[in-house]
Amino acid sequence: YFYGWSEPVYPSPNGTGSGDWAAAYNKATALVSQMTLEEKNNLTYGVTVTSNGCAGNIAAITRLNFPGLCLQGSGNGVHETDFVNSYPSGLHIGASWNKSLAHDSGWHMAGEFRKKGVQVALGPVVAPIGRTTTSGRIWEGSASDPYLSGAVAASTVQGMQGQGVISSVKHFVGYEQELYRNPTTNPDNETVESISSNIDDKTMHELYLWPFQDALKAGAGNIMCSYNRVNNSYACQNSKTLNGLLKTELGFNGFVVTDWGGQHSGVGAALAGLDMAMATGKSYWGNDFTKAIKNGSVPISRLDDMATRIIATWYRMGQDESSYPAPGVGITHNISMPHDIVNALTADAKPVLFDGAVEGHVLVKNLDNALPLQSPRLISVFGYDAVAPPQYIPNSKLFRDPWEIGLEPAVFQLAAAAEIASIIDEPYDYQVAFNGTLPVGGGSGASAGPYLSAPLDALQQRAYEDSSAVMWDTSSSPSMLGVMQASDACLVFINAFATEGVDRSGANDDYSDELVKKVASTCANTIVVIHNAGLRFVEQFVDNPNVTAIVFAHLPGQDSGRAIVSLLYGDSNFSGKLPYTVGKNESDYPAFFHDYAVKPYKLFPQSDFTEGMLIDYRHFDAYGITPRYEFGFGLSYTTFAFSDLKISPVKYGIAAYPSGAVEQGGAVDLWDSVATVTATVKNSGSKAGAEVAQLYVGIPGGPVKQLRGFDKVHIAAGKSTKVAFHLTRRDLSSWNVITQKWELQSGSYKIYVGSSSRDLPLITTMKIVT
Ligand code: BGC
Repeated sequence: YFYGWSEPVYPSPNGTGSGDWAAAYNKATALVSQMTLEEKNNLTYGVTVTSNGCAGNIAAITRLNFPGLCLQGSGNGVHETDFVNSYPSGLHIGASWNKSLAHDSGWHMAGEFRKKGVQVALGPVVAPIGRTTTSGRIWEGSASDPYLSGAVAASTVQGMQGQGVISSVKHFVGYEQELYRNPTTNPDNETVESISSNIDDKTMHELYLWPFQDALKAGAGNIMCSYNRVNNSYACQNSKTLNGLLKTELGFNGFVVTDWGGQHSGVGAALAGLDMAMATGKSYWGNDFTKAIKNGSVPISRLDDMATRIIATWYRMGQDESSYPAPGVGITHNISMPHDIVNALTADAKPVLFDGAVEGHVLVKNLDNALPLQSPRLISVFGYDAVAPPQYIPNSKLFRDPWEIGLEPAVFQLAAAAEIASIIDEPYDYQVAFNGTLPVGGGSGASAGPYLSAPLDALQQRAYEDSSAVMWDTSSSPSMLGVMQASDACLVFINAFATEGVDRSGANDDYSDELVKKVASTCANTIVVIHNAGLRFVEQFVDNPNVTAIVFAHLPGQDSGRAIVSLLYGDSNFSGKLPYTVGKNESDYPAFFHDYAVKPYKLFPQSDFTEGMLIDYRHFDAYGITPRYEFGFGLSYTTFAFSDLKISPVKYGIAAYPSGAVEQGGAVDLWDSVATVTATVKNSGSKAGAEVAQLYVGIPGGPVKQLRGFDKVHIAAGKSTKVAFHLTRRDLSSWNVITQKWELQSGSYKIYVGSSSRDLPLITTMKIVT
């Protein structure tokens, strides 16, 4: 087979406690040495508890004052509980291109996890990264680019762990589609294994591993291994990815937990580097694991290492301190039943929630300055996405399976291709659009805040404040001819839904497109707002002259309506940029739909990542495809100009390879600054605004260009500011598959700076001689 099999890497390396993990390791070693075999074993697998509703629980060892652990989702707020906030989703934070926002959002969110008694928060997401354009979980991660995804993840981890909450960076690795994410049973009652993501070594390092490396460097204490197989070996028992990449090359000191139900062997998984099984380890570990230790199938040193990694992470976050709330204290089993309230809401999270919601909106079309609205007398509002859904409770069914709680989806479609349905014997209905405004995607990443500001609610409030009028028809076939013609603007709100467990059936739906066209056929100033949980095509209306403005509103969380109104009326300025490429056709992308290559492989579905590094803009660049809106693009109410590109001198004869010690994150000198690029950004318009200065590098022998720096700067009208990008050894290296090291290339590097991946006015070259 072309990609071969995942190579064996044994034995599993012990955590070293290198760098700033040393103190925690000393304490952990001391505590673990007092534990019995059973006590150590109990740390490694989840138990069912009746006292809380955590997604996973590790039992207490009361004798040694270890209170146990509560593991709970997810990346944008505490999942499925009350009195917590619903923050902007990963994709929304990605679209803000704002590292301090990612940090602050993580910090406030983790404060709530902590109050609720959660020791391990199951986020952020860096896989899927977006290789499969229609994957159902792209919105949980931040960008279809490893550099942006890694930068957001690193800031988020720092923010979250600053509160003492262990952050679980997931899903390791190559988890790029929902179809066949888990084994299924075919009509002949045979087990069809999970999809195998077949990834070559170079692509693994330069694309899929990259953001995990950033999160590890930032100190991530936990990694969740994924459901899929990697080069035909399950990710939670893959010795190459766990023992090799994660624990040896990247020097991981924390512990590896399975995705829920993602364990597929006992002895095999332990030897391959798995440390904790969730939600319960009954099937493979549990009591049987002590037998495997006693009969020598797994050396006791492996169990000691598992326990030490878990306890060291707990110490490192300061969770042994008495001020840390008890596991699961604020996570109830059933939100609808009477329970004690643990209120985790604080007023100081408000600005972060609001700024976060604002900054992830991306304005892509603004004909003749249709926006901001200029003291409109009358606006009219259309579309199912303008209003709050009829029910809003922190229930996992709300966004994942709304029809099960009686909510009709706005647009329903049978998504499973007949072929897939016949293989997995399970045709599924898939909702393309959510019937109500969409603040978040569905599944374990969903969250629900104390309120939901829907666009129409906020628009009405605005009409009240400035004594204007607002009229609406959010039915499926609006007909308000006179109103539309008298309106200063017609706002159409639509969405593109996505949820865990299912991939999307496409990137647009005719129902919503028709709605836009219907309004635009009458209203000369039609403004389209799309709450999109992933790519949304706009080809059906983008060139319509009556469609004057288009906003990708992503998933803003609970302050959705307030944020969009602030932007539409110009109280806030747009500053978001696309963290993915908006193409025109499915064929513009290397892997638009999930892979369902089961037939030739029968029980072992395969997905060959033959495009290598070339996903998203790297693919568009390589094949000369013109996108509708490129990666990094987004308009503002002001304009920016770039000038004065300078590069600090690069050391002549610099070593090609790193030679530093390995700490968590990899060789320490991979982060040495090799060159600094500076430029001047001027706000050349008449309004204050923020620009995301972007730096792309063309590495000799690599893709045309790759993002290797960005800086979001707020600039007053007419003023200028300097931006500086520090390029590290890793930023400028390629993975050498022979030497198994990051290698600086001798030669001429292209350097581009500008405002998007295709608007790069400053270009120069930089020579490196190794
Ligand atoms: C998801 C994980 C999640 C876990 C626990 C799984 O289905 O894939 O992302 O953390 O459930 O809720």
